[in-house]
Amino acid sequence: MSYPPLWGRFSRPRPLGADSLPEDLIVGDDVKTTFKRIIKRCLLVSGAISTFASLRQAGVVILRYHSVLENPQDLDDVIGCGIVHSAAVFEQQMQLLSESFVPVTMDDVLDFAKCNKKIPRRAVAVTFDDGFADNATVAAPIMARYGIRGAFYVTTGTISPYQPPWFIALRRAFRCSKRKEIVSPLDGTRFQLDVPQDHRQAFIQSCSHCAVLDLDEQIHWVAQVEKFLEIESYQDKYGLMMTEEQIKGLHFAGHIVGSHTVSHPNVAHISESRINVELEHSKSELERVLGAEIVHFSYPSPILQPHYDERTIRLSREVGYRTAVTCTHGLVYPGDEPLACHRIFVPDNIADFRWSIESALAGFPP
Ligand SMILES: [Zn+2]
Repeated sequence: MSYPPLWGRFSRPRPLGADSLPEDLIVGDDVKTTFKRIIKRCLLVSGAISTFASLRQAGVVILRYHSVLENPQDLDDVIGCGIVHSAAVFEQQMQLLSESFVPVTMDDVLDFAKCNKKIPRRAVAVTFDDGFADNATVAAPIMARYGIRGAFYVTTGTISPYQPPWFIALRRAFRCSKRKEIVSPLDGTRFQLDVPQDHRQAFIQSCSHCAVLDLDEQIHWVAQVEKFLEIESYQDKYGLMMTEEQIKGLHFAGHIVGSHTVSHPNVAHISESRINVELEHSKSELERVLGAEIVHFSYPSPILQPHYDERTIRLSREVGYRTAVTCTHGLVYPGDEPLACHRIFVPDNIADFRWSIESALAGFPP
């Protein structure tokens, strides 16, 4: 991206924070984007957006995180920066939550949705999907400094032998492959991998296919893709996923541990018997590890939509879950279905983070 010189000449280091002018407001964007940022900034600084929010019914914001790393770029080929937050930014975000919002837990959200409990305005819950080890080693210590308790949803098939979910190996295979062209073994489509749009389409097709396979078939498909892309088989040298001890550590520190299925499929696109296996086995495995009942669940959302429906809501209730979070944008209000809680995406910078929460509370679209 090229920067207009008019904006570039104002470039200088500025501290980021709730009351500082975001650096990306003055450098790094085209004029249209910069204008939007100025409008957002005015709404924040003037308090107008908080006024909008105070006129609406109070809802709870649930934040959706995945991985928090000291140096996200180190694992760019594996996890990918799209779902990673840097530890420094995450710390700023937790500080802002503790100072300007009201951190709550998913147990509070459950009571709020069922109209059993009132929650103060500006309530925010923090959740993590997938079960990355950095949740325990990087994120949880930062949250402890600000007295924030979160919900950590673990993909139990990754606990032992500590292999990451299938989409990690597929991402790495597509990012690291040197092949310029492939013909899809699924439908014969020819993809030019050195063309970004084709590369993305090939990756999406591969993920869409894998998202409905069972665990053994996933392993076979990943191996097939790696061979096709001439990439050596993925070996987890990073210790990406949480161990049993780390899961226990989160539980005994007062955090909620929930299920994110066994094998990270798209549960809305698989058979009812397989949904039950994914819901029940992940629940019982975590209950074995923790010796405590597991009642919170998070729907994986790998590519295909919808990622939940009436059937998955009914089955998750029958299995014994009391809340389930989704990737659908929005807040939770009294009377909402607690087994289909909306969440919001979390940007990896403090200025957009504050805007995301404030605008969600005010009912603005994402
Ligand atoms: Zn996930």
